[in-house]
Amino acid sequence: MEQHVLVVFPHPDDETFGCGGTIAQFVKSGVPVTYICATLGQMGRNMGKPFFATRESLPNIREAELDEACQAIGIKRVIKLGLRDKTIEFEDPELLIDRIEQILQEIRPSLVLTHYPGFAVHPDHNALGEVTIRAIARLPVQERPVVYAHAFARDCQEVLGPPDIVNDISSVSELKLAAVRAHRSQSQMFLSKIASEKRKKQSSKNQFSHMLQRESFWTYRF
Ligand SMILES: [Zn+2]
Repeated sequence: MEQHVLVVFPHPDDETFGCGGTIAQFVKSGVPVTYICATLGQMGRNMGKPFFATRESLPNIREAELDEACQAIGIKRVIKLGLRDKTIEFEDPELLIDRIEQILQEIRPSLVLTHYPGFAVHPDHNALGEVTIRAIARLPVQERPVVYAHAFARDCQEVLGPPDIVNDISSVSELKLAAVRAHRSQSQMFLSKIASEKRKKQSSKNQFSHMLQRESFWTYRF
């Protein structure tokens, strides 16, 4: 059993879409989970349909959505770093590494969930995954937590091979769905698209139901 799971992602919703089920399972089995959420996703382009957000209100809306989603999957502690969305790659990496190292020293996680640097598509994902790995690499080998890295670049299977952790989350799919719904500004459009595609194409519907059944990770090799 894990002692403490630390989750490190840049955007409100990364925790839900990538590993909401896995987190919910850890919480259910009594493992404390702490989430470092680096930004409030304030540069996101989805403002709701019909619009319910503006550029000014978006960070507050996404923060409230984040809190609701964390409640749904059971995360009790969220450390919000307050960085600006879409700018993590321009931050001083040493400062970020120091910050993450401090948190690692404080909570001593046995497992860290983060993005696989270089294989996580968005520059924020890759940059934060990178500094997280570098912060962990500063720890002596025997003190390092295991890292489950989330990857979804087109070539990730080709380069990394198949994911070694394929987690069946069907027992908590309802909790993950509740968290997806909580991220309303991000999920509303595709949820209604899926609903309207019921009788026609099945592709995005299948993809979504797959997301509620399984979550996959690559164990990071230092
Ligand atoms: Zn993201």
